[in-house]
Amino acid sequence: MKKGLIVLTMAFISSAVFSCRPRPQEPQAVQEQFDWIVDTFDDVKVLRYRVTDFDRLPLQQKTLIYYLSQAALCGRDIIYDQNCEYNLPIRRTLEAVYVGYEGDRNDPQWAAFEKYLKKVWFANGIHHHYSSDKFIPGFSEEYFDMLVASVPEDRFPHDFGSVEELMAVIKPVMFDPSVCPVRVNQAAGVDLLQTSAMNYYDGVTQREAEAFYGRLAKRAGSEPLSYGLNSQLAKEDGRLVERVWKVGGMYSPALEKVVYWLEKAAGVADERQKEIIEALISFYNTGDLAEYNRFNILWVQDTVSTVDFVNGFTEVYGDPLGYKASWESLVNFRDDEATLRTEIISDNAQWFEDHSPIQDKYKKKEVKGVSAKVINAAFLGGDCYPSTPIGINLPNADWIRKEYGSKSVTIQNITQAYAESSKGNGFLEEFILRPEDRDRIKLYGTLADNMHTDLHECLGHGSGQLAPGVNGDELKQYGSVLEEARADLFSLYYMADPKMVELGLVPDVEVAKAEYASYISNGMMTQLARVELGKDIEQTHMRNRQMISRWAYDLGRRDNVIELVDVDGKTYVVVNDFDKLRSLFGRMLREVQRIKSEGDFFAGRKLVEKYGVKVDPVLHAQVLERYGALGIQPYAGFVNPVYTPVMEGGEIVDIECGYPAGYVEQMLDYSSRYSYLPSVNK
Ligand code: ZN
Repeated sequence: MKKGLIVLTMAFISSAVFSCRPRPQEPQAVQEQFDWIVDTFDDVKVLRYRVTDFDRLPLQQKTLIYYLSQAALCGRDIIYDQNCEYNLPIRRTLEAVYVGYEGDRNDPQWAAFEKYLKKVWFANGIHHHYSSDKFIPGFSEEYFDMLVASVPEDRFPHDFGSVEELMAVIKPVMFDPSVCPVRVNQAAGVDLLQTSAMNYYDGVTQREAEAFYGRLAKRAGSEPLSYGLNSQLAKEDGRLVERVWKVGGMYSPALEKVVYWLEKAAGVADERQKEIIEALISFYNTGDLAEYNRFNILWVQDTVSTVDFVNGFTEVYGDPLGYKASWESLVNFRDDEATLRTEIISDNAQWFEDHSPIQDKYKKKEVKGVSAKVINAAFLGGDCYPSTPIGINLPNADWIRKEYGSKSVTIQNITQAYAESSKGNGFLEEFILRPEDRDRIKLYGTLADNMHTDLHECLGHGSGQLAPGVNGDELKQYGSVLEEARADLFSLYYMADPKMVELGLVPDVEVAKAEYASYISNGMMTQLARVELGKDIEQTHMRNRQMISRWAYDLGRRDNVIELVDVDGKTYVVVNDFDKLRSLFGRMLREVQRIKSEGDFFAGRKLVEKYGVKVDPVLHAQVLERYGALGIQPYAGFVNPVYTPVMEGGEIVDIECGYPAGYVEQMLDYSSRYSYLPSVNK
């Protein structure tokens, strides 16, 4: 359970083939031709996602999605400028060259230029979307000069004056490694604002910013405002001022268009959603953070609308101080069938609690399941595009979450695209030894993966209770790993329970075998592909998975429950006894629950340190080598579908959903039609 973004988990990346999400009722989905991968470059693959069931929506909801998707497009330039003030002039210069250059496009330097532009589009700027390090162009400055000189001057942005003046500004930023080296610096001991290339502050030191917002935070009452969320903090004539992002303020040209389309959306929405959208419009028009709170409160209470959306200044990961939010949008609609699955689980929460292998005194007398909503993305924008989360949990303001709750969603068609695009990439053949395991994973891997997530989220975290006098923070830095382990173990234990078949959640207990084989192999081995050689495991979920897997290996050693098999110098993890493994999971759950309920810090620390942190360097090197040989890109992002209104006599009579041909085409199209900001914004 996590606020904000739920990013792609390790299990997903390194075992993406384990999840392919056909519907539970039809494990072998109809084989239709759909090209999931539209482009690959560098460490990235660009995918399409499929907007399942869009055609079945009524016209009113299709139209609502269309208007909201237009609003999502209009804010695209904002995230570029937020990420770094030079991103827009650089992107526009690169695009002008890309479109206008009539010379040799077979030159290797041209290929490097094209790759650089693709990376800039992917990251919404010149810094890597994940590591935040600046890209180093693979072409020379001289080559770039030649390209620019060959394109007519009027194609370039003129915000700095002549093309020479433009070049004088952007070339050091592009080519000098010491200029703007990192977008978000997290290294302690230096001024985080002065050393980060993000554009949330202008001429302000970290100390000044912290003092400024520290003073404002003291004013907060019981319904605090998210101070700093929607502005750039700047120093003007020696004084600190906030340049507020609103209509009439900073980013106004883009926000005016966003508002224009939101008004259209409000015009076709029902009463409930109209009020929500109008609150958001009011926030954009006034910049008033109290209006933002009002919008969030209305939004989080709407759990019935089929179509839903995120649109606004939302996540604060891009600000090293965590005040300022990047602009993003996600338009989506509920997947009723998949949501039904989480409701069945939730409705039976008490049964699961009563039959849990934990000690009776640590069981909840009255347990309430959480029913997470499953959605399909219809459109991605701003900071959610092209790289996007697989789930979201909003709003972020703690007091609103406490008073009004939060919405937690998993984005089914995005995970589907990840999984489908990984099929046949050789991962299973390389890392899973037995054909019967591979077959089971191919047949049931998707369903198993979905069930695991559902049980973990809807029941696992919410089960169990603390002993009297224990308040829950006794486990300190080991608390979150042990909490994830508790939810995972709950899920793994029940996955193989006959109750799952009885409730119609799985067709067969074989589903659990698929999950067990992939979970253990991932936890003991394949997830190491994402750890740098020589390093320990740091990431919480990865520590949890290794801890569970290695602990189970240890506990079952005498009976050879899990075996490390060596074939021709390659190591494989094999589960020999699924029934015994299930009872081991039960035993481990009982112990982890005891540790949490009693706040037993020392036992918790021992488990995590013994099983979750250290890496076998020989096995690690082997995994990296085998993974590398498969040539799988570690990051993925998406192109959007294309929505086209069908008009009759000036009226929209239908919206058609199509899929674009290419990544470059979509980016150039967006840049030519939805680019509203100047290259310099203050
Ligand atoms: Zn969790």
